[in-house]
Amino acid sequence: MESLQVNLKHKTYQVHIKRGITKELGKHLRAQCSGEKVAIITDKNVYHIYGKQVLQTLNSEGFETHVIAIEPGEKSKTLATLNDVFGELVRAKISRRDLILTLGGGVVGDLGGFAAATFLRGIPYVQVPTSLLAQVDSSIGGKVAVDLPYGKNLIGSFYHPDAVFIDPDVLETLDPREFNNGMAEVIKYSCIKDRQLFEELMSFSKDELTDNIDRIIFKCLTIKKNVVEEDETDRGSRMMLNFGHTLGHAIEKYFNYSKYAHGEAVAIGMYQVTKNSESMGLTEHGTSLMLKELLSKHSLPHQMPESDAAQIVETIALDKKSKGKSIDIVLLSSIGECFIKNICKDEVAKYFL
Ligand code: NAD
Ligand code: ZN
Repeated sequence: MESLQVNLKHKTYQVHIKRGITKELGKHLRAQCSGEKVAIITDKNVYHIYGKQVLQTLNSEGFETHVIAIEPGEKSKTLATLNDVFGELVRAKISRRDLILTLGGGVVGDLGGFAAATFLRGIPYVQVPTSLLAQVDSSIGGKVAVDLPYGKNLIGSFYHPDAVFIDPDVLETLDPREFNNGMAEVIKYSCIKDRQLFEELMSFSKDELTDNIDRIIFKCLTIKKNVVEEDETDRGSRMMLNFGHTLGHAIEKYFNYSKYAHGEAVAIGMYQVTKNSESMGLTEHGTSLMLKELLSKHSLPHQMPESDAAQIVETIALDKKSKGKSIDIVLLSSIGECFIKNICKDEVAKYFL
């Protein structure tokens, strides 16, 4: 088992990565939780595949279990679902001595984590992320949230779990498009901080990728952990995790979160900005070509949707959330090294189009 410890100002917690750990969760939870009840917040897809084994391991350690299975997908990350979840937690008489366990992708982790942050003013929770995106990104960092009709993640908090349990074996049942969606974030980490990882990803066959996925998850989480520890509340250096995201978010939003998955939009964002920064001489020659090859290897797009490109880029400068005349963007100096650049809003087309 690989473990890493996230050291925050007011809290420390462990992230465990081990193949098959889903089947032995009971034992691990027993070691750290004195409560009797566990409320499992999951989605119906994940529950259908892994519910039985999770219940079995928890029950065999004497936990009383309550399952709250929401409809899968982003459309469930709402106040309405949260309201239902709270109702179930009340019915199950969950107290502050008990535990919430989130079992699923980023939707379940974000919504379940926010429920844990707010129910009875906060009860302990552990994350069991099951999508690649959740395993390498959303399960650590403490950002929990739900969406509003006006935008994504508008209601949320910083609330860290007591532990994270990652089972790379569960990725076997993940839809290939979802797997590649998570690979976009893996590629992002390699671009901003780990050239060796980038080179490995370039050379791996499909089987080699599967065989090494636990080590890859560990590498990504180590990068995220270091950044989160330095900047818990996302005011400074966490910014570097936004490589590809300024344009990525604009693309997702422009198409109402339907045409492109998050990772696909980020893939376009990473390539586009790198192609432009390279032609401005800010990025080592050849970087964007390498990036394009790696993205294509994982069936990820790199090109802007042509007829909408100008309008999408325009929305970046118009974004109400970015006040003032300039924005910070993340650029690569070469594969494995990034820097933050403050650019004028009237330069956005130069960097993103
Ligand atoms: P998701 O939770 O919707 O999961 C994707 C799909 O895969 C779902 O249909 C789910 O049922 C299915 N699934 C998950 N694990 C499976 C498995 N092992 N086998 C079979 N099917 C499985 O989406 P996601 O991509 O995991 O997460 C996206 C969410 O994460 C977004 O809401 C985003 O805002 C959030 N997010 C949060 C952070 C953060 O720091 N908190 C960071 C990045 C993304
Ligand atoms: Zn992302």
